[in-house]
Amino acid sequence: MKIIHQYAEMKREVALLRSQDKTIGFVPTMGAIHAGHISLVEQSASVSDVTIVSIFVNPTQFNNQEDFLKYPRIVEEDSLKLFASSCDILFLPSVADMYDNPDLITEPIDLGYLDTILEGAMRPGHYQGVVTIVEKLIRTVEPSNVFMGLKDYQQVKVVEYLVKTKELPTQIVGCHTLREPNGLAMSSRNMRLSEEGRSEAALIYQILQGIQENSMNHTVDQILTEAKMMMSAHPQFSLEYIEIRDATDLSEVSDVLTNDHSYVALIACWLEGVRLIDNVEF
Ligand code: AMP
Repeated sequence: MKIIHQYAEMKREVALLRSQDKTIGFVPTMGAIHAGHISLVEQSASVSDVTIVSIFVNPTQFNNQEDFLKYPRIVEEDSLKLFASSCDILFLPSVADMYDNPDLITEPIDLGYLDTILEGAMRPGHYQGVVTIVEKLIRTVEPSNVFMGLKDYQQVKVVEYLVKTKELPTQIVGCHTLREPNGLAMSSRNMRLSEEGRSEAALIYQILQGIQENSMNHTVDQILTEAKMMMSAHPQFSLEYIEIRDATDLSEVSDVLTNDHSYVALIACWLEGVRLIDNVEF
């Protein structure tokens, strides 16, 4: 595995790979690498000649400064995990190289309602930060495919919208969520939970599974009331939102769900000062 720090060096490497007709798979991350990230790397490697992983804790996507400062930064440990995986190149750009680089100037795009619902509503500016850095990284790495986790469901929709709007020559591949044995979705933020917290956090997936099971024989209102009651029975949790949306475009759904549609239930909550998100499709 090669480690590249600088934009210019990455560009030279990409030009070489392209001249050899190699397909590039790309996995953008913010580090604190876990098995969920590795599953994206392996999916990329199974269909790409070369897999590039970036680690960049992107300052512009944090609406909360404390969250940014507390975000785990363990690049040495991460490199060892990636070294043991099918990652070929680890890209570790600096903030200056991404944000003060005249070759990487990007124009903001209007994300429409995707920016005002769910995560967009709770984290103002977050998705503008995400699309800015993802565009810069895609323009640097020039991947055929970008592998992204459906754990961040809305993020996948936002990046698909970015790629379509800016006509970036790449495909977004949404990959399923890896979970701990108790159902907790793997996340870099889980490191900040106590052992007890990690065990209690199994409730999130249990609630989502309950929604999945009840989806066809209850109204949305009944399903969400039940889900909220389940969470409020555990006062250590603080619920931010729980919603059911159309799985294709995250538009609103009617109170009665039908078999011929696909839906997604999305949740965000706090536990032990850590913000956790998860979702299930059905
Ligand atoms: P992050 O480092 O949290 O920005 O995540 C980098 C990529 O890994 C994103 O595309 C995430 O959606 C994805 N990811 C995070 N957690 C998981 C998981 N548990 N399973 C699969 N993919 C994940």
